Amino acid sequence: MDSPIAKLGPEILLEIFEWLSRDRSATLVPSVLCCRKWQSLVTPVLYSDVVLTNNNIAKFAGNSPGHEVRSLTIRLDPILVDPSNPSEAKQIVESRLKVLILLGLRIPRMRPKALSISIDFATPLTASREVSSILDHLPTCCTSLEVHVSDVRHGGVIPGFTADPRTDVHLCDTIRTILPQLQHLRLHLPRLCSAIFSSGQPSQNAPRQVVRTPMLKTCIIDFSMRPPGPSSYSGAWAIPCNEDTTQILPIPPASQLPSALPPVVPVLKDFARVNSANIERFWIIDVESRDPSCPNSWAAWVRRDFMTNTSFPIPATNIGGFRLDGWLARVPSPISPNKTQDWLATPSILQSLAEGSTWVGTTSGAILPITMIREHQDILKARTRESFQKQTRISCMLWRNEDETGEKLLPKGPGKLMQQWNLSETTPNGWTRDAYHGSPMVRIPYDEV
Ligand SMILES: [Zn+2]
Repeated sequence: MDSPIAKLGPEILLEIFEWLSRDRSATLVPSVLCCRKWQSLVTPVLYSDVVLTNNNIAKFAGNSPGHEVRSLTIRLDPILVDPSNPSEAKQIVESRLKVLILLGLRIPRMRPKALSISIDFATPLTASREVSSILDHLPTCCTSLEVHVSDVRHGGVIPGFTADPRTDVHLCDTIRTILPQLQHLRLHLPRLCSAIFSSGQPSQNAPRQVVRTPMLKTCIIDFSMRPPGPSSYSGAWAIPCNEDTTQILPIPPASQLPSALPPVVPVLKDFARVNSANIERFWIIDVESRDPSCPNSWAAWVRRDFMTNTSFPIPATNIGGFRLDGWLARVPSPISPNKTQDWLATPSILQSLAEGSTWVGTTSGAILPITMIREHQDILKARTRESFQKQTRISCMLWRNEDETGEKLLPKGPGKLMQQWNLSETTPNGWTRDAYHGSPMVRIPYDEV
C-alpha cells in the first residue's frame, strides 16, 4: 500500500522541498536518494542556490555534479589558529586554496547567474591568486558578482610565517576585466585602488581610460573593513593597494592607516559620469570612527552616492553587550532617505541595510542581489526598536534622551558627497548633560536660562 506521502502531487512535494531548502540545518540530499520521482523534483531545488562552506566545499569540488546552478555562494570563514601548533592552520588553509582552484575550473560548467565569494583567512595567507583564477574563468552568463575578502588585519594571524609575494595577485586588475559583463557588483576588499575602474596610470602622462560598463545597474563598494562601533579600534577601512598589510601588525586604530577612498574619488566620479545612462545605484560605503576626545560622539557607516553627489551617515553601535544581534544602526529610509529608522541586528545584517539591501543573505546562507530573491526564499532581517525592546528589554541612552527631549540627536543626511560628518549627539536648547559617554540629558532650570 502506498504511504500517505506518495499520494501528494508534485506541486505539493516541490513546495515541501523548497521549504526545506530555506533551512541551513536541513538537508535535501536524502530526499534525492529516495526515488526517481523525488530525485527529479529535488535536484533543481538542491542545485538552485548552492552554498559552499568550510564543511562541504572539498566534497562538492571533488564530486563535481555537472549540474547547472542559479547561484553559487562560497563562504570560507576563519580557521582558528592554535598558537602551540600554527602549522596545522596553515595546512588547512593551503588545502582550501587547492580546493578553490579545482572549483574555479568547474564553475564555467555550472553556469551560475550570480557568484558570491566570501573569504576570511589568517594573515599572511591570501586567496587573491585563487579568487583571481575563479574570476578569470567566470562564464559570461554570470552577471552578478560579490567579492568579499575580509580584513587581513583582523583575521587570525599565523605566527612564524611570512607572506609569499608570488601568491599575491592584484585583484583590482582581474575585476576590471570582467566589469563589462556585470549587472550587479559588490566589492568588500581590504585593499583597493583605481585600477578597478580605469586602465593606465595618470602618473604616466597617459589619459586615464575609464571602463565602460553598459550592463551595470548597481555597484556597491564597501570600504568598511571593520564595522563602526563603540571602540576606537572599530571601523577600519580599506587601504590603498600599494600598502603592505603584512607590515602593519599589531592592529592600529583606523585613523592611523591611510584610507583607500580619497585617491580613487576622481576615478569614481569619472566612472559614474561615463556610465550614468545605465547605472541606477553607485554607492561607496565609507566608515568614520568615533572621536575618542568627544564623549558623545558616534561611529558610522557613510553612504556616498556618486550618482547624486550626496552622502548619508549611518551611525552604529553595540547596545546589546554580548548579544551578537544587539547592534543598533540608524538607517535612511529606502523611500525618503532624509527620514531615518533604527534597526537592530548583527553587524553584517546592518551593513547590508547600510548598503540599501542591494545584496542580501538568505536563511539558507546564499548571498544574492535582492533582484534575484525568489518568493519562497527567506532573507535575514533586522528588527525594529519596538520588536527588539519587546523581546530583550534592552534600551540605550540615545533613545532615553530622544524620548525626554522629543528631538532626534544624531546627524542625518543628505550632505555633500565627501562630507566629513560631525557624529556627536547634539544638545537641544534648554537641555544640558555631563561630559561623559552615555550621560543623561537634563533640562536646564528656568532660573538659569
Ligand atoms: Zn588595486
